[in-house]
Amino acid sequence: MFHDTASALFGVAGLRVTDVESGPDGAVEVWAVTDCEGAAACPDCGTVSSKVHDTVVTRPADVRRAGDPVGVYWVKRRLKCKNASCPRRSFTERVPAVPPGARVLPRLKEQCAAEVADRGVTPAEAARHAGVSWPVAHEAFAARADAVLDAPPAPVAHLGIDEHRRGRPRWRTDPETGEYELLADRWHVNFCDLSGSQGMLGQVEGRTADDTAYWLVQAPPAWRDRVEVVAIDMCSIFLSAVRRALPGAQVAVDLFHVVQLAVKAAGDVRRRATREKYGRRGRQGDPEYGLKGLLNRNVETLSPEQFAKVIETLDSDGHGQQVAIAWIAKEKLRAALRLRARITRSQPCERQVRDRLFAFYDWCAACEDIPEVITLAATVARWEQQIVTAVLTGVTNAATESLNRIAKLEARLAYGFRNPASQRRRVRTACTRGTRRRARTATRRPKQSVTKGKQVPG
Ligand SMILES: [Zn+2]
Repeated sequence: MFHDTASALFGVAGLRVTDVESGPDGAVEVWAVTDCEGAAACPDCGTVSSKVHDTVVTRPADVRRAGDPVGVYWVKRRLKCKNASCPRRSFTERVPAVPPGARVLPRLKEQCAAEVADRGVTPAEAARHAGVSWPVAHEAFAARADAVLDAPPAPVAHLGIDEHRRGRPRWRTDPETGEYELLADRWHVNFCDLSGSQGMLGQVEGRTADDTAYWLVQAPPAWRDRVEVVAIDMCSIFLSAVRRALPGAQVAVDLFHVVQLAVKAAGDVRRRATREKYGRRGRQGDPEYGLKGLLNRNVETLSPEQFAKVIETLDSDGHGQQVAIAWIAKEKLRAALRLRARITRSQPCERQVRDRLFAFYDWCAACEDIPEVITLAATVARWEQQIVTAVLTGVTNAATESLNRIAKLEARLAYGFRNPASQRRRVRTACTRGTRRRARTATRRPKQSVTKGKQVPG
């Protein structure tokens, strides 16, 4: 392939290095000529020419050498086509490794694309390092990413749906009333493969039921039929979208959000009870205030002393008893959720789950003077079917939530995006397994002569 060591080190097939000089600031200047059999063939008629018309020097941008910039000087011959019937009068030499008219060597574009796709560097930073413009780096990355992202997704048994803000909300002051009004609040809904390893399957702008259903109905019917369970937050928008677009799928709500709701209800009761008792908000030194953290924790993680402290403090008066009721309601709800196979190591039956939920409702119904608990029970009752599905199938939306975190990280790295399509491409590249860097292992390669057995002097 290469006939001398310098050309092999330079490594562009079809070019032979004739000289290497050191330029200013540690730069390396590589002078090369064409060394390729087909280079002298006319691109129109294919006639090989040897009639030199002129000599030109092109300077394509190249990758750095050990951090130093490399200047490439490719001395090309301009040849005259000898075929009298060919419309082309003259042409310059061309080699397969460098596309005609290229101002940037393909390996530099590949490096830019790999830095953005694999290493999470922004296109601006990759372009700065490569010494090319932002559009060149971005185009290289987009070509590489789209080849993977545009492939239709493989079947998914468990689908996760979640939303995240795509940028800061924008406000403006109304000149007449002086009040703030919302100008733009931009959201992305993302779809995630929970059962397989495909990561993020797609994103859609906006967060209405129509936006969500729009992405789902675009998928082929065979793909939609394979979706068994869809995990969502307790968000009726997603529920209606799934009902519309995936009528055959079961819906599971993420149980983290159910517990979060119960913890919030218990906290609300504690804050209200404190205000009623002292006429002010809680502060350090109040006995209830010292329980703040303990009440948020799962009861099975409390030590016997901590448990006794909670009971003793709350049992002392009527305000405390209200808090205790809400706290027990939370634990009764958790008892139903804790039937899932991940915790019990055995498959729960639907009757068991519904019985425990009934016990929770029963407890809440007995304390109708605590509005927070009644609201909690009503919300849980509204989502009962989806909660039971989540317990029985064990499907959680945790993977989607973790991809949300990566999506927000990408937006910060880029200092925000102006172009939503660019944002979706960057986020999906970061969140899709197929585009991530493959694990690199240090394996010894067999020795191979790049100069094909030619004698190297010295
Ligand atoms: Zn020709």
